Amino acid sequence: MGEAYKLDCDTCTYTGNIFVGFGFAYMSLKSIASFVQDAALKRRIEEFIGNPSTRYDAYNALYVCPACQAMRNELFIEMKSDSSQYRSSYACPRCTSVMEKKHIENNALHHLSCPACEKGKLKATFYMDWD
Ligand SMILES: [Zn+2]
Ligand SMILES: [Zn+2]
Repeated sequence: MGEAYKLDCDTCTYTGNIFVGFGFAYMSLKSIASFVQDAALKRRIEEFIGNPSTRYDAYNALYVCPACQAMRNELFIEMKSDSSQYRSSYACPRCTSVMEKKHIENNALHHLSCPACEKGKLKATFYMDWD
């Protein structure tokens, strides 16, 4: 099951919601392919579905830009078969740096700078399970 967190800045009024973890729709690659928007990724998933040796891992993750702290809440997917492998990666929408996947802990003050004021730190509060 996935978890939803509310993010609050300790300096300004910024708030945001993020969804992390494993949802019901991630139970099979077929189901993931049915909601993925990116046509190239959809094609890669279909190639892996066609290979019986495929193993995969998929969940929702928070990605943060190491250069400008912009955040994206995206699907992490890693697939491996005998002949190929794939792992999702995301570019920063502001500065195009490669973003890093971050782990979220409840009630912890994260080393995440606020995307609005850039001075404050973000605190994550768990608020519900999702599936
Ligand atoms: Zn702020
Ligand atoms: Zn950036």
